[in-house]
Amino acid sequence: MTEKVVIVGTGCAGLTAAVYAARANLEPVVLTGALPGGLLTTTSVVENFPGFPEGVEGFGLMTRIQQQAEKFGARVRFGTLEAVDLSRRPFLLTVDGESLSAQSVIIATGAGHRHLGLASEAKLEKKGVTYCATCDGALPVFRNQPLVVVGGGDSACEEALFLTRFGSVVHLVHRRDQLRASRIMAQRVLQHPKIRPVWDSVVVDILDVAQEKVTAVRLRNVKTGAEAELACAGVFVAIGHVPNTAVFRGALAMDESGYIQPQRGSETSVPGVFVAGDCADRVYRQAITAAGMGCMAAIDAERYLAALES
Ligand code: NAP
Repeated sequence: MTEKVVIVGTGCAGLTAAVYAARANLEPVVLTGALPGGLLTTTSVVENFPGFPEGVEGFGLMTRIQQQAEKFGARVRFGTLEAVDLSRRPFLLTVDGESLSAQSVIIATGAGHRHLGLASEAKLEKKGVTYCATCDGALPVFRNQPLVVVGGGDSACEEALFLTRFGSVVHLVHRRDQLRASRIMAQRVLQHPKIRPVWDSVVVDILDVAQEKVTAVRLRNVKTGAEAELACAGVFVAIGHVPNTAVFRGALAMDESGYIQPQRGSETSVPGVFVAGDCADRVYRQAITAAGMGCMAAIDAERYLAALES
């Protein structure tokens, strides 16, 4: 059986595409990937999604969009896309070893956390190094301990503010002397008594691999070159994201960083394959823009399928 549309990803983009595709009677199959609900499920309160003046919890928002899509006939399937053949029609997708055939595909695979790239970071991941304060911040190992957040964007600020509930002090290590974050987030961070910014500094090592736990970071001041150790029990890395598009490499056009750049609405370089959300957007990357792009991709897929039939 060939599906009319397979949507890859269940973040804001994928699930909004699913709502629209389902309401157009396309009975979309929606693949969850490794993180059902996408990155928003790892955030705490979303304050800027329109319609929620009191804010909305990320996980709850995604659950509701999924329920909305399923109500109209979307079929959410747990599974990870392992391979694609977009050179043949219908398209062939391999999902956890099984073949899935589709007339059209919407790519909404989102983006993952960027890593610092240190050997010690990899060795201490889940042993004090983490990429998600909401997921891990409340762990006993971090309670009343000094913590380090790396980054200067909205994510780093959000992580730092969240961690003030648990840590004794939160050191915000940023490679410049000015935050990239939005003004409101930056103000909250800089005014918080428990957050101490460490400007012009990069983490060059995380200690202590031998003890299999985080005891400190080694920092280098990028202006003076001076190095110093800063004691901490946890390192929360929040330095941006990389698009989850590796499985499509070679199958369609993408830029040097792996972003699939949409042409004319949500079209990719392969007719019948559409793209939406953070895997296609290096600029805005908001829940609401991802949702908007998901809507566009579903409408484009619907029109593509209608043209095939006429
Ligand atoms: P971002 O805005 O790209 O910020 C990444 C930060 O990490 C920057 O400060 C950057 O430094 C730093 N950085 C990048 N690579 C680094 C490296 N190798 N070593 C050290 N530092 C490094 O990413 P983001 O904070 O994840 O935000 C992504 C998007 O989501 C943004 O559009 C943001 O507004 C949005 N967002 C919004 C909210 C909210 O509204 N509540 C919350 C989270 C995210 P430089 O500044 O020097 O480049």
